[in-house]
Amino acid sequence: MEISLLTLLYIIASVTFIIGLKMLSHPDSARKGNLIAAGGMTLAIFGTIFLYRDEAGNKLHNYAWIFGGIVIGCIIGTLSAKKVKMTAMPEMVSLFNGMGGACAALISLVEFNHLQHTLENSRIELLMMDAAGPVQATLLVIMAGLIIGSVSFAGSVIAWGKLNGKIKDFSFNGQHIFNIVLLLVIVGLAAYIIGWLPENASLIFYAAFVLSLLYGVFFVLPIGGADMPVVISLLNSFTGVAAACGGFLYGNKVMLTGGILVGAAGTLLTILMCKAMNRSLANVLIGSFGGGAKGIAGDTNKEAGHHKEINIMDTAVVMAYANKVIIVPGYGLAVAQAQHACHELEKLLNERGVEVKYAIHPVAGRMPGHMNVLLAEADVSYEKLEEMEQANEEFPTTDVVLILGANDVVNPAAKTDPSSPIYGMPILDVELAKTIIVNKRSMKPGYAGIENDLFYRPKTSMLFGDAKKVLQDLIAEIKSI
Ligand code: NDP
Repeated sequence: MEISLLTLLYIIASVTFIIGLKMLSHPDSARKGNLIAAGGMTLAIFGTIFLYRDEAGNKLHNYAWIFGGIVIGCIIGTLSAKKVKMTAMPEMVSLFNGMGGACAALISLVEFNHLQHTLENSRIELLMMDAAGPVQATLLVIMAGLIIGSVSFAGSVIAWGKLNGKIKDFSFNGQHIFNIVLLLVIVGLAAYIIGWLPENASLIFYAAFVLSLLYGVFFVLPIGGADMPVVISLLNSFTGVAAACGGFLYGNKVMLTGGILVGAAGTLLTILMCKAMNRSLANVLIGSFGGGAKGIAGDTNKEAGHHKEINIMDTAVVMAYANKVIIVPGYGLAVAQAQHACHELEKLLNERGVEVKYAIHPVAGRMPGHMNVLLAEADVSYEKLEEMEQANEEFPTTDVVLILGANDVVNPAAKTDPSSPIYGMPILDVELAKTIIVNKRSMKPGYAGIENDLFYRPKTSMLFGDAKKVLQDLIAEIKSI
């Protein structure tokens, strides 16, 4: 069997996607993995542009459009990636994922128009000769790409708006029923087009398109803000499936492989994130988590208001003379961009003979692996990062836990308050340590919108201020001891 150069390039590209994905699972190799997969994608794109031939042997010719698009896309992509703040990454991922969904939907729009010609001219003959099978199979893939891609696009844009605060949570009574009915109507329209090849197919097709966009909007609007990363991951898997439909349509194996990998990886990530929060996907999708709900225990404690404060000088003494310190990074560390100062503190304490480790909660921050990426950026050794289960075993032998901008992931309400929206989420058991110092700017709640009883417990002291400034002052103070 003869293998064309293009097929060979596609195989190489597919392998690089798999290797890249594998390497993304470790902070040390993630950057290289990303580059390898991007290199494979570049090969696949340029291979298609220059080597692709259709059945009649024609090659691509509209180079001005193709390269115009590539140049504009590269400029926008590079500038956005360079400018984006670490805390705004989920927003950017959401927007770019939406673009993937839009591309898949556009492919379906274009291919439907191609197919429409066949439908208009030979609908009756096809049906009478019982030869409509291939057309219907193509239509099935077109409709799947259209619906999934449109939902992913509209949903991702709403998720992006919610994450940057431009769009507020919105729901109405019976919205979940409305969503189910809307979805059934869309599936019904698709089934009608595919099964009956009706004369007014294009009208129904565009109705399905508009309703799919609407469904994407109504699907994401009621979901609570704190669950947006899970929703983005889910929509990401939708985009993968929609792209795989494009691969089917064009018989393009690398597009099919890429789409399936994205679909599978997105699904696994969604499941893992739900598991880390000890919640079902259904609970995420209809739970309105992060929409401002308050835990009962939290409200009571707020009224009590007995929290203790500690200053930089006392914190410096406590930490400098400790044997073992565990740092718990959270979203606030990313906001303050305090990862480098954090690493400096770790090195300083190490020089004084203090053992320092980091406890990483799986959903600390705003995206999976957020803290790992942040600390890796500051060259913190991967060996020093402890996963939740490991860290929980170490807290009882720890002198000081320094919590830097974390809140929900150390909230005991997750274990003690069944009415709390985070009840059941595994947390870092920081209370098992001898002393707990919490750095944040105020007593305001974290992303789940609930009070944190930990801040009022006898072993806890609050160290108020921006994480970066506090760490810099702490470093200066420890140096002077
Ligand atoms: P939280 O959002 O619970 O808390 C962050 C805290 O950081 C806030 O209370 C804030 O308090 C403080 N903070 C903000 N800016 C600064 C600053 N400049 N300096 C110091 N402190 C600051 O973060 P966690 O990491 O504990 O929890 C993550 C949340 O996100 C969880 O609810 C999780 O379920 C959710 N989530 C995460 C996902 C993921 O993949 N990582 C996915 C889905 C959801 P203050 O304003 O007083 O400073």
